[in-house]
Amino acid sequence: MLEKGKKYECEIVDIGKGGVGIGKHNGFTVFVDGALLGETVDVKITKSKKKYAEGVISKVKKKSIYRVDRLCSNKYINCGGCQTQELDYQKQLEIKTSQVREDIKRIGGLEGIKVHDTLGMDIPFRFRNKAQFPVQRVDGKLKIGFYKKKSHDIIDIDKCVIQHDKNDIIIEIIRDFIESNNISVYDEKTGRGLIRHIVTKVGYTTNEVMVILVSTSENIPEMDKLVNELKSKVEGFKTLVININTKKTNVVMGYKNINIYGNGKIIDYIGKLKFEISPLSFFQVNPTQTEVLYNKALEYADLKRGDKVFDIYCGIGTISLFLAQKADIVYGVEIVEDAIKDAKINAELNKLKNTEFFVGKAEEVVPKLYKEGVSANVVVVDPPRKGCEEEVLDTIVKMNPDRVVYVSCNPSTLARDLKYLDERGYKCSEIQPVDMFPHSVHVESVAVLTK
Ligand code: SAH
Repeated sequence: MLEKGKKYECEIVDIGKGGVGIGKHNGFTVFVDGALLGETVDVKITKSKKKYAEGVISKVKKKSIYRVDRLCSNKYINCGGCQTQELDYQKQLEIKTSQVREDIKRIGGLEGIKVHDTLGMDIPFRFRNKAQFPVQRVDGKLKIGFYKKKSHDIIDIDKCVIQHDKNDIIIEIIRDFIESNNISVYDEKTGRGLIRHIVTKVGYTTNEVMVILVSTSENIPEMDKLVNELKSKVEGFKTLVININTKKTNVVMGYKNINIYGNGKIIDYIGKLKFEISPLSFFQVNPTQTEVLYNKALEYADLKRGDKVFDIYCGIGTISLFLAQKADIVYGVEIVEDAIKDAKINAELNKLKNTEFFVGKAEEVVPKLYKEGVSANVVVVDPPRKGCEEEVLDTIVKMNPDRVVYVSCNPSTLARDLKYLDERGYKCSEIQPVDMFPHSVHVESVAVLTK
C-alpha cells in the first residue's frame, strides 16, 4: 500500500474513464487526475487502498508532447470544470473519436460503420452560455467561483475561460456590490444569509444578458444600484431576476422568480430559430456546436415535404423545430412537463404550427400513440445517458420508418441500441461525433440508420 500524503513517482501507462491518468509505481496502480499518457509524474497520494491509490500531480517530470498550458490560472485546477484543458485540443478530439469507434466495435459488435472525425470548435474557449457561481463567506472573505471537486469549498475565481467573457465583469460588479453594501451571503450550515448563487445566461447571437441572484429572500437592499452598474458596464444587459431558494439543498434554483429589471427573459437563436430563455428553462449550453449537431441530424433525416417525424426525448423541442422547418408534421415526446410548455412556446414563437408535443415517458407514450394510429416515416431520438428503453426501440421498428436518426450523449448506450436495431433490420451506415463540451470527456454523436 502507498502512504497517504506521501509522494511517489509514477509512469502513466493508460487513460481511464473520465480521462483519469492510470499510473504505475513499482507495478502498483495509481489514478492521477490530469496526468497524460506517457508522462512520468510525482504524485501526492490522496486516497490509499489495498489494490490501488488516488493522487494529484505534484510535479511533471517527463512531459507528454500533448501537454499544453491552461488558459486559466493553475489555481483553478480543481474547480471541477475542465477535466482535460491541459491536453492539446486536437488530441482531445482524436480521443473522443476513438472512444466512439471502440464502443461501436466492442459493445455494439458492429462492423462497417463509418465513424467520422469529431467536429470540434475553431476556438474551444468562451463557448458556454450559462454559468452558475456559488457564493460564500469564509473567515470574512467573500468567495465567488466554483466548488472544488467533491467538496463544497469554493475556489474564488476572477475568470473562467469556457464561459462568455461577460461573466468576468458581472462577477466583479456583484463582488463590489456585495462588499460595498454589506449584503449578506448564505451560510450552508446555519441556513442564514441572502445570496447563494449568481446565475448568468447570455444569448450568443443576440448578445442579451440575464443575471439571476439566487437568494433566500427577495428583500435584497440597494437593487437599483446593482441595476445601474450592470446597465452601464455590461453590454447587452437585459434583465435582473431574484430567484428565491430557501431550502437546505444542493439544487441551485428555487421555483419563484421576481423580476427586478426587465421582463425576466432573453432571446437567442440557433440557426434561424428563435428561443425564449427564462431563469428556469433549459437551453443547450454550447449554442455554436448545438447548431453543428442539429444541422447534422437534419442532414441525416433527409426530409422532404410529406414526411412525418417523431422526435423522441425532445426536451424544449429544439430538434423538433429544426425538423419542422422541412417536414409535414413533427411529434415531440418528453417526460418533463415544463420542457413541453417551453417547446410549445418556442413553436409559436417560430410560427411552426406543424408540431405536436406530448408529455410522458417515451416508453409509454410512443407505443400508445402508435396503437392509436400515430406513425412516422422518419424517427429522431435524443435519449439521456442511459439510452433508449426497449419498448421505444420496438415501437420504432414496428413503425417501419425509412430512416432513424440517433443523437446520443453516451457512445456506449448508443452502441448497445444500434446493435439492438441492427438485429431488427435497421443498419447504421455512419456516425458523426460532435464536440459539445471541449476540455471534458463527454462526447455527443449523431448516427443514421436505414432499413
Ligand atoms: N433533444 C433535446 C434534449 C434531449 S436530452 C434538446 O435538443 O434540447 C434528453 C431528454 O430526455 C431530456 O429532456 C429528458 O428530460 C428526457 N427524458 C429522460 N427520460 C425520458 C423518458 N423516459 N421519456 C421521455 N423523455 C425522457
